[in-house]
Amino acid sequence: MKNIYIIGAGLAGLSASVHAVKRNYKVNVFESSNLMGGRCRSFFDKKIGQEIDNGNHLVFSANKNFYELCKIVRSLDSLQLLPFDLDFYDKKQSLYWNINLEKINLFKIIMNKLELIPGTSLLDYLSIFKFFFTKENSTVHDIIGNSNIYSTFWDPLTLAVMNTSSENASAKILAFVLKETILKGKKNCNIYQPKVNWNNSVIEPCANFLKKKGCEINLKNILKSIKIKNNFITRLEFINNSVEVKENDLVIFAIPPSNFSKFFPNLSLPKNYNSIVNVHFKLTKTIKEKFSKKIIGFINSHTHWLFIKKNYLSVTISNANHLNNLDSNEIANIVWKEICSYMKIKHRITSFQVVKEKKATLEQSPTNFNLVKRLKEIPYNVRISGDWTQTSHPCTIEGSILSGKRAIPL
Ligand SMILES: Cc1cc2nc3c(=O)[nH]c(=O)nc-3n(C[C@H](O)[C@H](O)[C@H](O)COP(=O)(O)OP(=O)(O)OC[C@H]3O[C@@H](n4cnc5c(N)ncnc54)[C@H](O)[C@@H]3O)c2cc1C
Repeated sequence: MKNIYIIGAGLAGLSASVHAVKRNYKVNVFESSNLMGGRCRSFFDKKIGQEIDNGNHLVFSANKNFYELCKIVRSLDSLQLLPFDLDFYDKKQSLYWNINLEKINLFKIIMNKLELIPGTSLLDYLSIFKFFFTKENSTVHDIIGNSNIYSTFWDPLTLAVMNTSSENASAKILAFVLKETILKGKKNCNIYQPKVNWNNSVIEPCANFLKKKGCEINLKNILKSIKIKNNFITRLEFINNSVEVKENDLVIFAIPPSNFSKFFPNLSLPKNYNSIVNVHFKLTKTIKEKFSKKIIGFINSHTHWLFIKKNYLSVTISNANHLNNLDSNEIANIVWKEICSYMKIKHRITSFQVVKEKKATLEQSPTNFNLVKRLKEIPYNVRISGDWTQTSHPCTIEGSILSGKRAIPL
């Protein structure tokens, strides 16, 4: 093996690069945009007046490959580990509650005092064990659709983890996440957040690590076409240059399926995506005082999650294809009303920025995962990575980082 060419500097491409230089390969990275990080990037926003993340990324302490990457690039100090102690607000019923996993103990469970959501009992939560009996093609709704806590717990959880409605989301994937987190114990459910932003915690440390190791990172250099001979890639044609690829070199495509399919039009790849809409609001002192927790779950509202950052508030709306064509001002006003309703005050809307990630993730359905599982016919000197390639994991940061690591030969 002489060279490894990595297409895409999102988390999968960066993870592949870091693991490749650690194994002493010569690595060249090519990224079409002028920023690294892909769907997990930070940028300076004039309206908010500071560098912000495109969206709110949350990583569980169960995510070992994420931890390992941050350890390699020495960025663990830039992260904060929050306990799973979240406030929730049901807008329709004007109900507020808190779920703090530290407060759950065996005594409460035995005495049937486990009322995580108002009006529920232990029996409702035992439905989690139904996930041990999922079939390949079952959706979350098939497994748990008749549960008492479907709309207040299972559906919001599925949206948060898989950015896909329970009616379409693969139950196998949600089962995998439950087994890795809550069913392994609460220490796996703590939440990593960056102290500053994701660029500071992961992207920049990876880039610095790679530069120190002599890896070339070519930004604003989009791959336009490839040449294939005898089932080997022989040439990569970029917008700025072209590269000859030998049979014993390796090309790693760390790009989403919509981009990958341009080079391999004959492959059957997933085609449907779900968007995530993020609305970032400038934070004033009066507003900040209204919040005691850093993350709040919203139920029965457009807003799904509200993150309270140092200088801005940030809202996540998952599975948001219905908002793709709605005017940004309208979206911000709807969401702002919901935040005011939570705070129980009237407050003038602050400066905001709306970020629509129209292809935030695949629709994580059994059909799409089956398509990926069947992918075989790619050239011998090609490997694919990216969040969509790990068919037992949801499309997440952990899946991307793992996929990059797995793409590198030992
Ligand atoms: C708003 C939002 C919120 C999210 N929240 C969470 C969360 O809370 N927790 C979590 O774990 N995950 C979350 N995710 C998912 C997570 O961000 C993604 O799974 C992950 O970032 C995907 O990384 P990737 O490297 O696989 O792909 P990408 O980030 O898409 O990287 C692909 C890169 O390839 C580049 N590229 C594409 N085509 C070419 C080409 N032809 N030539 C050169 N370069 C090319 C792109 O510019 C891009 O930089 C969220 C995603 C979004 C959008």
